[in-house]
Amino acid sequence: MIAFYYQYVAERNCLTRVKRLRSYNVREAAKATGATPGTVRHWHKNGLEGIVGVYPLIFRGVDIIAFFKRREDDRKRPCGPGRMFCFRCKEAKTPAFGEVEFWPDGPKLGTLRGLCPDCAATMNKRASLANLRASAGDLKVSIRCADPRLSETPEPNSNPHSEGG
Ligand SMILES: [Zn+2]
Repeated sequence: MIAFYYQYVAERNCLTRVKRLRSYNVREAAKATGATPGTVRHWHKNGLEGIVGVYPLIFRGVDIIAFFKRREDDRKRPCGPGRMFCFRCKEAKTPAFGEVEFWPDGPKLGTLRGLCPDCAATMNKRASLANLRASAGDLKVSIRCADPRLSETPEPNSNPHSEGG
């Protein structure tokens, strides 16, 4: 988390050195942001827009600033619907296979669990039954019945022909 914080501070500082109205080639953009040219190319692949039709790459200062603002916004609310935070990758991700499990630990609250698609670490996210849909987004949720009180609740789409047993 500390390294994460320093990266954040470094990115804040670099913003003050990028001028909105200037244009930057890869090397200049790297110098202004304190990054390496390789990192600047990586940003370009991940949404930093260059000036269209110009080669070698030229970035407008205003686009570099917008790119950092977007990243900052993503970080403030990294786990929107259907996304979970992987502490190993330090990034919000859509869980592997688009599937999560919900493990209730009380009548109302529980934990959503999914697998990181990149490093296969388990990602957890607190959720309540009430906001489960909002929290899981389009993910397929299988509810695990750790709480016996919940396992007694019939599923809404369960088979009307109840199986005796
Ligand atoms: Zn991961």
